[in-house]
Amino acid sequence: MNHEASAALFARSLDVTPGGVNSPVRAYGSVGGTPPFAASAKGPYLTDVDGNEYVDLVSGWGPMLLGHAHPAVVAAVQDAAARGLSFGAPTPAETQLAELVVERIAPIEQVRLVSTGTEATMTALRLARGYTGRDLIVKFAGCYHGHSDGLLAAAGSGLATLALPGSAGVPEAITSQTIVVPFNDLEAVRAAFVEHPGEIAAVITEASPANMGVVPPEPGFNRALAELCSAEGALLVCDEVLTGFRTGPAGWWGEEQKSETSGGWQADLYTYGKVIGGGMPVAALGGSREIMSHLAPQGPVYQAGTLSGNPVAVAAGIATLALADADVYARVDAAAERIRTATSEALTAAGVAHSVQNVGNLFSFTFGDGAALGWTGTGGGPRDEDEVKRQEAWRYPPFFAAMLDAGVNLPPSVFEAWFVSAAHDDAAIERVLAALPAATRAAADA
Ligand code: PMP
Repeated sequence: MNHEASAALFARSLDVTPGGVNSPVRAYGSVGGTPPFAASAKGPYLTDVDGNEYVDLVSGWGPMLLGHAHPAVVAAVQDAAARGLSFGAPTPAETQLAELVVERIAPIEQVRLVSTGTEATMTALRLARGYTGRDLIVKFAGCYHGHSDGLLAAAGSGLATLALPGSAGVPEAITSQTIVVPFNDLEAVRAAFVEHPGEIAAVITEASPANMGVVPPEPGFNRALAELCSAEGALLVCDEVLTGFRTGPAGWWGEEQKSETSGGWQADLYTYGKVIGGGMPVAALGGSREIMSHLAPQGPVYQAGTLSGNPVAVAAGIATLALADADVYARVDAAAERIRTATSEALTAAGVAHSVQNVGNLFSFTFGDGAALGWTGTGGGPRDEDEVKRQEAWRYPPFFAAMLDAGVNLPPSVFEAWFVSAAHDDAAIERVLAALPAATRAAADA
C-alpha cells in the first residue's frame, strides 16, 4: 500500500503543527508509521490522499453512527449552510434538538447545547459545584472526560486522597479539588465521602468507560453510585459523550434501565457529544429543570459560547438523531457483534490470549492471559485501569499495521474502542474478516 502523499503531507504538517496533528492520537504515536491523511469518506469506507480505501472502524471516533456522508445528513447541512453559518441569536433548530434529547432520556427536562464534550463535562461540574456549594469532584482513573484542567488529574498516592496534575500546565491547586479512585470500586468512592464529609459536589463517571478500552461497569455499579451520591447530597454526572445515542437511543443509561440488576437509577446530569452532532461540533448537558435552572442567564452559574447551538452543526445532529431508529441500532449492534466475535475467534485460532469486552456495540480487545495477569472483571477481562495496563500491549501495533495494510482502519491505540456504523454492510464486514488471519498471526509473532 502506497502512503507517499500522506508521508509528504505529514512532513509538511510537522513543520507548522505540533506533532503534525490537531489531536494527539491521530499522530500514530503508539502504533508507529505514517497516519493516512483523509481525503473523503462514504458509508463504511474512508479514502486517503493516496487513493487507498479502508473499511473504517474509527467512525470519526464515534459520531458517524449512520456511516460517513449520509445523504440526508449532508443535505440537512447544505440546506442550513445556505441559510447562514452563524447568527448569535436563538434558532428553532436548537429547540428541536433539545426536544429530541428530552424525548429520549426520561430524567432530562432541560438541555444546554455546547460545541465539544470537553465543554459539556466542564460545565456540568461547574453547575454541580454552583448547585451544591461544594468544591470537590470524584472521578475514576482511566475515565476520560475531555481536557479541562480539573479532569486532567492522576490518582494521588493513597485511596481517596487529592489528585495530582495529569498534564504539564495543570496547576496542583486545581487538581487538588479532584479525587481519583479506581473504576468499579464502590468502596473507594465511599471512602472519599468519609474522608471529605460535606465537601464533594459531584461524582463523574463514563456511563460505561470506553477510553481505557471498554471496561463495563459491574452490574448495579452505576445504580449504587447514584444511591450513594443522593445519600451524600452530591450530584452524579453521567458522561455519555461516547455512549450517548450510540449504544442505544437513550445511551448506556437507557440500556441499563432494561435490566433488573443494573436498572432503576438516574443521574443528576448527563453529558453528550459525538453522535448528537452527527460529525459536526455539537455537545450538550442535560438534567432536571431544577438543577439546570442554575445556569446563566436564569441562574448564577456562568456558561456561554459564540458557536453554541451553531445552526449548521445542529442541523447535522437533528438529521442524525431523526434517522437513528430501532433498525439503525439493530444494524450497528449486529455488525459490531460479527466483527467482535470473528476477531476474537481469529485471535484464539492464532494462539493469541486475549479478552474482548463490550457494552452494546462498543468493544475492544485486551491482550494476554487474564488469569496470569490478574484481571478480575466479571467477564474475565480487566475491571479497572490498573488491570487494563497489565496486558501484552506490544501485540497491538503489528496487528494494527497488518489490518491497515489489508485496508482496515482500526483505532491507532489498544486503549480505544472500535466504532461500527449502520453502513457497515456484509461487503465491508467481509473485508474486515478477510484481513484477520494475517493480522492475528502478526499479533502472535510479536
Ligand atoms: N467524555 C468522553 C466520555 C469522551 O469520550 C470524550 C472524547 N473522546 C470527551 C468527554 C471529550 O469530548 P471532546 O473531545 O468533544 O472534547
